[in-house]
Amino acid sequence: MRTNKITIAIDGYSSTGKSTLAKALAKELGYLYVDSGAMYRAVTLYALDHGIISDRLDTDLLITKLPEINIEFRLNASSQVGEMFLNGKNIEGPIRSMRVSDWVSPVAAVSEVRTKMVAMQQAMGLDKGVVMDGRDIGSVVFPDAELKLFLTASDDIRSQRRFDELKSKSTDLSLQMVKANLISRDQQDSSREDSPLIKSPDAIVIDNSNLTIKDQLELVLKLVEGLD
Ligand code: C5P
Repeated sequence: MRTNKITIAIDGYSSTGKSTLAKALAKELGYLYVDSGAMYRAVTLYALDHGIISDRLDTDLLITKLPEINIEFRLNASSQVGEMFLNGKNIEGPIRSMRVSDWVSPVAAVSEVRTKMVAMQQAMGLDKGVVMDGRDIGSVVFPDAELKLFLTASDDIRSQRRFDELKSKSTDLSLQMVKANLISRDQQDSSREDSPLIKSPDAIVIDNSNLTIKDQLELVLKLVEGLD
């Protein structure tokens, strides 16, 4: 068991199981887990609830409102996982809705939003011992992370996983809607100008289409042990 703490960056397409793996790893290693996507989702929820998004995103208004958007993770004592709070309110439920999923990519493409989020993410990782998942963690947030992973899985498997996760919460949701959202977000996240989703050259690719979470955890723990 290694004693010095490291930084683990997990990037990849939507619904590739990044957060499941990241949470399991953080638990196993006694590290902090940070879901950076939740932060972009929180800003999107604020924009939806404050007239910044109607049928379009008002980027200038969003930028002026950024100082009013206070987001923080508060530790849930029983799960030991951080939950997202927006201006003092727990928003873990609403940020996972399709309403937020449909608008999060345009919000995350705004450079001023990214600057604010990245500064918070880097502050959370200052002492190392962190597992963070997202789209630009290995490329922008922690370019010096000791371990960088890039997760992929087939479109059908990703859509089914996300659909299974969401269907208990929403009855008017179809597998087709979920798949369309994933593909559209991946396309927007990969093609934006600021910090697009890319695989860092030094990231290790894991296609988990046919891997259980146990398989992935074993694989990554071996990688952690193998670092100098
Ligand atoms: O990880 P999750 O699917 O919750 O992320 C939601 C969205 O937040 C992504 O589709 C992407 O637009 C944005 N995101 C990002 N950079 C990150 C994490 C998420 O742009 N590091």
